[in-house]
Amino acid sequence: MTTIGILGGGQLARMLALAGAPLGVRFLIVDNVADACAAQVAPLLVADWRDFAALEKFAARIDVATFDFENVPADTAHWLTDHTRVSPNPRALALAQDRLAEKTMFRELGLETPAFVTVDSRADLERGVRALGYPCVLKTRRLGYDGKGQYRLRSSADIDPAWQALGSAPSILEAWVPFDREVSVIAVRGSDGAFSTYPLVQNWHSDGILAASLAPAPDAAALANAAAAHARAIAEHLDYVGVFALELFVRDGKLLGNEMAPRVHNSGHWSIEGAVCSQFENHVRAVLGLPLGDTAARGLSVMLNWIGELPDARAALAESNVHWHDYGKSPRAGRKVGHATVCADDAAQMHARLTRVARALGRETQIAPVLAALTHTL
Ligand code: AMP
Repeated sequence: MTTIGILGGGQLARMLALAGAPLGVRFLIVDNVADACAAQVAPLLVADWRDFAALEKFAARIDVATFDFENVPADTAHWLTDHTRVSPNPRALALAQDRLAEKTMFRELGLETPAFVTVDSRADLERGVRALGYPCVLKTRRLGYDGKGQYRLRSSADIDPAWQALGSAPSILEAWVPFDREVSVIAVRGSDGAFSTYPLVQNWHSDGILAASLAPAPDAAALANAAAAHARAIAEHLDYVGVFALELFVRDGKLLGNEMAPRVHNSGHWSIEGAVCSQFENHVRAVLGLPLGDTAARGLSVMLNWIGELPDARAALAESNVHWHDYGKSPRAGRKVGHATVCADDAAQMHARLTRVARALGRETQIAPVLAALTHTL
């Protein structure tokens, strides 16, 4: 029997455990809260990230450790390597935890990024806005996700509030990119160096949180090849094992690296029903040294995130090829509590199906940009 230990017990751990079960894999979750939603499907050890006595017991019960949460302290990940196998490796985790290190690596590997400067003082911030102009965005180097740890500056009147909100933390100031669209590539690398990517995904965010994804991204063959090549360069540079996501802006037909997530990713959830082998199963396969699964899409998929609260599933389930995921979390503003994936054979069928689902769920606004992107391809 093989057991994968997961640091972090959110919906990603939950979906990893659900994907690994048919392969006969067991899971053990470690999280510092007792009601972590992955605990509804796998055993949970409640422990703090720095409770090394508990982590020693955790390590003794597993064959390999992986992450559902990239902000696990890097020294905890390092400590674990003396007690069990850890995938992805702590170097990759540490790099993805720091926006400055991450963007520097992107540039070194030939992936352009939005213009940015390092901000360690108020004077740096003032120099930065003079160099980059408005709008721009101040982002903490660490612990930012889903738009948290960010402050958008539109004029000099925003300097004081931005500095007060984030100033005490080492940050970067980034030019605001008037992007044409946002895309991501989900990649997987095995311990033998085998590498594969899922089709490029187009994403729409609302308040910095992913609202919807469309896979494969329409009219994106050249971009998809370029994104896959960048992902491969990053994976090889970091000797990465497992699934990761690379989030990109598209501006004038060119890719700009925004960030990488060293784990399965929200913009890959569609792959559960929409790909031959899901990102979750492929992560399980990769960290266990099994052959990787086929990343090809089966037709078109649209993933809709449920933020704060779930709509009434009944209204969507009446429609064929709509797949519901309730993470078993209590509702809270800004919290990801579930998603739905709508699958279809082609763009016309997707457009019609999505229109009906939007109406049934009262989610016309959330779905409107996806319908607009599909309309272009009809
Ligand atoms: P992040 O946490 O950096 O991925 O930011 C969350 C979202 O905010 C991104 O997916 C974009 O929609 C938006 N965003 C962040 N940085 C920028 C930027 N420099 N220019 C334009 N949009 C941005």
